Amino acid sequence: MTHDRTAGQGSLQAAQLEHAVSETLHEARRKVEAAAHQVERGVEEAVGNARARMEHAAGCVEVAFDDTVTRTRSLWQRAWVAVVNWFDTSASVPIEGPAADRIAWLRVLPFIGLHLACIGVVWVGVSAFAVGVALALYLLRMFAITAFYHRYFSHRAFQTSRLLQFVFGLIGASSVQRGPLWWAAHHRHHHRHADQPADLHSPVQHGFWKSHMGWFMTPRAFGTDFKVIPDLEKFPELRFLDRFDILLPVALAAGLFALGNVLERYAPSLGTSGPQLLIWGFFVSTIVLFHATVTINSLAHVWGKRRYATRDDSRNNLFLALITLGEGWHNNHHYYPQAARQGFYWWEIDITWYVLKAMSWLGLVWDLKPVPARIRDARTRQRAS
Ligand SMILES: [Zn+2]
Ligand SMILES: [Zn+2]
Repeated sequence: MTHDRTAGQGSLQAAQLEHAVSETLHEARRKVEAAAHQVERGVEEAVGNARARMEHAAGCVEVAFDDTVTRTRSLWQRAWVAVVNWFDTSASVPIEGPAADRIAWLRVLPFIGLHLACIGVVWVGVSAFAVGVALALYLLRMFAITAFYHRYFSHRAFQTSRLLQFVFGLIGASSVQRGPLWWAAHHRHHHRHADQPADLHSPVQHGFWKSHMGWFMTPRAFGTDFKVIPDLEKFPELRFLDRFDILLPVALAAGLFALGNVLERYAPSLGTSGPQLLIWGFFVSTIVLFHATVTINSLAHVWGKRRYATRDDSRNNLFLALITLGEGWHNNHHYYPQAARQGFYWWEIDITWYVLKAMSWLGLVWDLKPVPARIRDARTRQRAS
């Protein structure tokens, strides 16, 4: 009996033990499983994070690559358009922001070349004939700029035939100051905004160099605003001159070179040659003509006397009037821009006006707009400032 009880107790303990062991094992498995699950989740999360980071990095690389490609392409495109613009000004690429006001060196390389070519006088020598041709071309082209580019195309200060309009458009275009449409559009803009921030060549707003030449070397000034010149845009021959504004300068340069060669052979006593006539007649004459013309932008708004209290800083200046054939009476001109004359009184020398008057006697030009005496003598005088 005792033996049986002992055996019974033993089997009970064994069963309890087995139960405890099985429970422990079960618990251990559960823990292991939970830990494994946790590890699995952790790994998954880490892999997920890593993948997201890699995708983000790949995205960044792609954006940077696209950006570089776009930039490089636009750089090349700009360079290409700049070179095409030397020959055909209709090619364009939109340039906004600060780049629009920075000098586009590649585009203006021919303009810099014009200056450098003047150094050629050192090699080609000089003759009275070559200097005479340079002076004659200076005067003829200055007249084309002042009488036609300025007073006719920009201000409609007189009338002429379509033929003469074109002839003086051609002569003006040989001055390397772009075509008549570009010139007139920018000039009308100047009168509308004279010496205000929008005026591209105001020395008061932007300083001497920018007003003298920096302004047209920037993309902001390369185009022509056709909206302000509907009266000129309708002439296809003028649009052609504007689009291919290199043609006339090249034709003049080539013509002078050929003439010089012919004269060297058949009139050696003149002492000239092809290269000499090219350098003096084209390069030197054009550069002096250019810098004289643009003094009206840079100097005629700061140097001289103000007879009229215009809203701008325009001045009257005898010296500038002499070198530009009459444009130096710039305060008069800003006061009453529609007149064909800029010297308002007989002592204000205005050679362009005298020539226009003579041309009107020949019937070449007509309807020269006068300056009414009541406007000329209006009491808006103020002391020179
Ligand atoms: Zn002005
Ligand atoms: Zn004007």
